[in-house]
Amino acid sequence: MNSRRHFLLKLAVTAPAALGVGLLAQDTPPPAVKLEETDPVAIALGYKMDTTKVDQTKYPQHKPEQMCSNCALVTPGSAAGEFIPCSAFQNKLVSSNGWCMAWVKKPDAPPAPAPAPAPKP
Ligand code: SF4
Repeated sequence: MNSRRHFLLKLAVTAPAALGVGLLAQDTPPPAVKLEETDPVAIALGYKMDTTKVDQTKYPQHKPEQMCSNCALVTPGSAAGEFIPCSAFQNKLVSSNGWCMAWVKKPDAPPAPAPAPAPKP
């Protein structure tokens, strides 16, 4: 096989694969990054990975029952887990037991619809 033909054959085989990888890369979200307590923005907002470790004298508005898992700023549609994306920190992963001074109560779930009445005999 001459080198030109070999080159064209190699291009025909590898180009679609490379294009496919490129398209997949566009659909794949960037890797999730955990928010560290040492992050400058986390420090500014008093973020702690454990809500029980929040300094009550510095943040008197903090209540023990407030944590990331019941905060409205968790990125909508994210799955519950040990670490969850937070919209206040550009979707970095925060501890579900964490807290920061941006905490906002997650709205209560709407009541379930009443069951349909049973058919009359
Ligand atoms: Fe947690 Fe809410 Fe603060 Fe995000 S904004 S770190 S979810 S308390």
